[in-house]
Amino acid sequence: MMMIMMKNRTDLVLKLLEMGYITSDIVKDAMEKVPREEFMTPETKNYAYLDRPIPLEEGQTISAPHMVAIICEKLALERGMQILEIGTGFGYNAAVVSEIIGPEGHVYTIERIEKLKNIAEQNLKRTGYLDNVTVIYGDGTNGYKEKSPYDRIYATASAPKIPEPLKKQLKIGGRLLTPIGRDTSVQELLCLSRVGHDDYKTYNLGGVVFVPMIGKHGWPE
Ligand code: SAM
Repeated sequence: MMMIMMKNRTDLVLKLLEMGYITSDIVKDAMEKVPREEFMTPETKNYAYLDRPIPLEEGQTISAPHMVAIICEKLALERGMQILEIGTGFGYNAAVVSEIIGPEGHVYTIERIEKLKNIAEQNLKRTGYLDNVTVIYGDGTNGYKEKSPYDRIYATASAPKIPEPLKKQLKIGGRLLTPIGRDTSVQELLCLSRVGHDDYKTYNLGGVVFVPMIGKHGWPE
C-alpha cells in the first residue's frame, strides 16, 4: 500500500511539473516527500494523489495539489524563512512549506475550527513536522502579532479584501498571497509585496476557488 502511495505521489508531482505548476527543485522535492494521505480523513486517503480538493471535516477541504504548488512557487520560499499561514485545515500545506524552509525556518499556522486545529497538530506530530510548525487556534484575519514580522504570509481561505493586520505583519521586502472574493466565480489570487513601510504593490495571479475566510477582517459567520 505504502509503495503504491509513493508511486502515485511521484506520478502526480511529474504531472504538476509537466503542466508548469511546479517550476523549482525545492517545491518538487518537498511535494515528493510529504505524504498527502497523512493529512486526510481515513475514508478519503485513497484519493490522496488525485489533483483535487478533497473534503476534510466541518465542511472544509484539503487544497488541490496544483494549488499548493502554485502557492509555494509564487511565495518564492527560501530556507530559514518565518511564515504565517491562515487556514491550517489538516496541516498539509504547512508540512510542504515546513519541508521547503527547513529546520532553521518556522511556520505559524492559524485555524479557526478547534477540531481541525487539533487534528492538524496530531498529523504534523506523527509525520515529524511539528518541530518547525506551530498550530494556533483562533481568527487568522488578526494575524499573529506575537511572532511578526513575517517573510511570507499566505491564506488558504478567501477574504473580501486583504486583512489590514496581515499587511502590517509582513516584513518590508516580504510577500503575501491570498484569495479575495466570496462567490466561487469571482475569487482571485492576489500577491502583495511590501516595498516600503506604507508602500505595497499588488499583482493578480488569476481566478481560484477557496472556502471563505471567516472572521473579524474577513466574512461574517
Ligand atoms: N491549508 C489547508 C491545506 O493544507 O489543505 C487548506 C485548508 S481549507 C481550504 C481552509 C481553512 O481555512 C479551513 O480549515 C477553514 O476552517 C480555515 N479558515 C477560514 N477562516 C479562517 C480564519 N479567519 N482563521 C483561520 N482559519 C480560517
